[in-house]
Amino acid sequence: MHQVRRIVAGVGLGVMLAGALVVVRLGWAGEPAAESQKPSVSKELKIYIVTDLEGASGVYKFAQTQEPGPLNEQAKEYLMGDIAAVVRGLRAGGATEILVLDGHGTQAFVPHLMEPGAKYITGRPRPGHPLWGLDESFAGLAIVGQHAMMGVPDGVLCHTQSSRTENRYWYNGVESGELAQVAAIAGYYGVPPILVTGDEAACREARQFFGQHCVTVAVKRGISQEAAVLYPFPETRKALEEGAKQAMKMIGLAKPYRLQTPIQAKKEYLIFEGSEQKPRRVVKEGIIEDVLKLLEF
Ligand SMILES: [Zn+2]
Repeated sequence: MHQVRRIVAGVGLGVMLAGALVVVRLGWAGEPAAESQKPSVSKELKIYIVTDLEGASGVYKFAQTQEPGPLNEQAKEYLMGDIAAVVRGLRAGGATEILVLDGHGTQAFVPHLMEPGAKYITGRPRPGHPLWGLDESFAGLAIVGQHAMMGVPDGVLCHTQSSRTENRYWYNGVESGELAQVAAIAGYYGVPPILVTGDEAACREARQFFGQHCVTVAVKRGISQEAAVLYPFPETRKALEEGAKQAMKMIGLAKPYRLQTPIQAKKEYLIFEGSEQKPRRVVKEGIIEDVLKLLEF
């Protein structure tokens, strides 16, 4: 059921043709509403955007993403500019409905900078699964402002869930960062990643996990975790808009990223016991039955 509904939403030329065939058959069956059903099925192209702050244009140090203050406020504006460019590109590529999720821990949206043509989800807590509002009716997933997984030498602000405790995760033996985590949750609903934006390292990781049918747009290149070659905003925003438009063409080609369940999971992280002590690295292993509970492990 999930799969079927997703394909109907995930229009490509082939699906539109299939839709037309269904209409013809309905017509033969004497269904009077058949003709009016055709546009509503073929036109809907919903895209879900997950955002993070560390992979936005101009962001390269944790002080911009973790500490309240002017640097953080400015970084949030940078992200909003990136999101706006992506929204424009997706709309130009045919997206009819766009939901944007604030995926940064401390939340990063600046409401007066919202680009028209999308709806923005922010604040906590949000009941249900981690990608609020995402279901099988969406045709594609865009991951905007993402960073590489923990430990990548040229990954700007790289981490997986927590930089302080240096978390690392393996699912079925494959080390996975936030890109794979987000895509796996979307993959449960059959929604494929069509666009990833961030630094060069995050884009490389996206190509490794999602293959050639996921468009990537790099907005900076990492030198180390808190040093980067930044690209000028007029150039990154142009590339983001163009990349998003191209990404719409990947609907029907891009494959959902699915984790086989039950998932053999491993997590490594630091435990801090008292301010004087050196942190201890611990390993946790177990089984995750439900992909939607991936982040609870
Ligand atoms: Zn993150």
